[in-house]
Amino acid sequence: MPHVTLVSLSGFRVREPEMLALGMTLPGLHDRARAIAALPALAPLTLAAHTPEGWTQSILEAPAADDAAVQRILAEKPALVAISALTASIPRAIALSRSLRAEGVRTALGGLHATACPDGCTPHFDAVVTGDGEPVWPALLADAAAGSLRPLYRPERPFDLAESRPPRWDLLPPRDRPRFTLQTARGCPLACEFCAASRLLGPFREKPAEHVARELDAIRAIAPRPIVELADDNTFAGRRDPAPLLDALAASGARYFTEADWRIGERPDLLHRLADSGCVQVLVGLESLSPRFAGMGAKKARIDRMMDAVAAIHHVGVAVIGCFVVGADGEDEESLAHLADFLLDAPLADVQLTLLTPFPGTRLHRRLADQDRLLPDRGWDSYTLFDVVHRPDPLSPDQLQSAFHNLVKIVFSAQASARRHDLRRSVWARRGVAP
Ligand code: SF4
Repeated sequence: MPHVTLVSLSGFRVREPEMLALGMTLPGLHDRARAIAALPALAPLTLAAHTPEGWTQSILEAPAADDAAVQRILAEKPALVAISALTASIPRAIALSRSLRAEGVRTALGGLHATACPDGCTPHFDAVVTGDGEPVWPALLADAAAGSLRPLYRPERPFDLAESRPPRWDLLPPRDRPRFTLQTARGCPLACEFCAASRLLGPFREKPAEHVARELDAIRAIAPRPIVELADDNTFAGRRDPAPLLDALAASGARYFTEADWRIGERPDLLHRLADSGCVQVLVGLESLSPRFAGMGAKKARIDRMMDAVAAIHHVGVAVIGCFVVGADGEDEESLAHLADFLLDAPLADVQLTLLTPFPGTRLHRRLADQDRLLPDRGWDSYTLFDVVHRPDPLSPDQLQSAFHNLVKIVFSAQASARRHDLRRSVWARRGVAP
């Protein structure tokens, strides 16, 4: 029986040396990075659920592309190694593929980067999948078994989430404190300029609530009181009535974390049921205090209105992580000092800071490329969200990088992190959730 090894290289990795050092020393930053790194990647688990009979399969998460990883994969004698990777991990994916192909193993690549840049990927893999993987997966495996892989696989239509199957959690090794990821929707109906996830794989789609319930049942068969991260780009963003989804989540008894538009704080119908559905924490894009930041799209608003929405979400006992993107046009030392002052006092349960990054496939990437503002010496492995990869305006790249480090030091200092930690506990205390 042929074997397929599904490899995820999507893990969170900081490359820039000073940022790496900060991640090791600043507790707030370290905790946030650890929480993200603890999440199992959903792509291989999802594809594995669509593997036809007649194949055996295994999943390998975020290995380095080193000899140990290659030997571990070769020991499985796979007929195919399917790799999912983000832009920053593409050089690792290529290195891994090169080593495996040198040993006669066929490789395939899928994911956001493969979708945005198929031409750059096809020379390095036997097959590249653009868009949703599920519709082409059985045909790709059949071609691999027959030794007739095509260089490019593109689904004829976007995958219908009503045809989704519970991810194959059983293929992962047991964990001490399992966290699970689950998708209730794919993409986002908004289209912020910098966002790679919202439209690249296809249009915005929502998974029927009964399918979500089925996936939650599968998780509960492994962990009776699971912690779940909804791997959505923007939960509750569609026009559907959120009640069936909230019912399914509440019935599961799971505690869950998700990402959503700050405007859920202006939806009393949703808010009053959010905590009861098990929602513990929501990550929202507040993005910038700067009025020149065009990238926010339809969710752009004055910061005081957004903070009112945050207060409403906190009021029902759900903690808010506010995300800010640094380095948009107009960002300068003064605006960054203003942001630091704001974040030191802001009633946010936690903060996420990243640098504006023009991922391939985004409107931002096209605009900056047209303006000749992409830094040619920054390879894909610099697209980490913590490295400057474009020429900002008006700061220089070095000035922005250094100002970003200073901001991170201030915002994730022990004192600032402890203040947010206390705030988080007080929010959760409103609904009796143990921190
Ligand atoms: S709201 Fe979030 S997920 Fe949607 S397009 Fe904007 S950044 Fe992307």
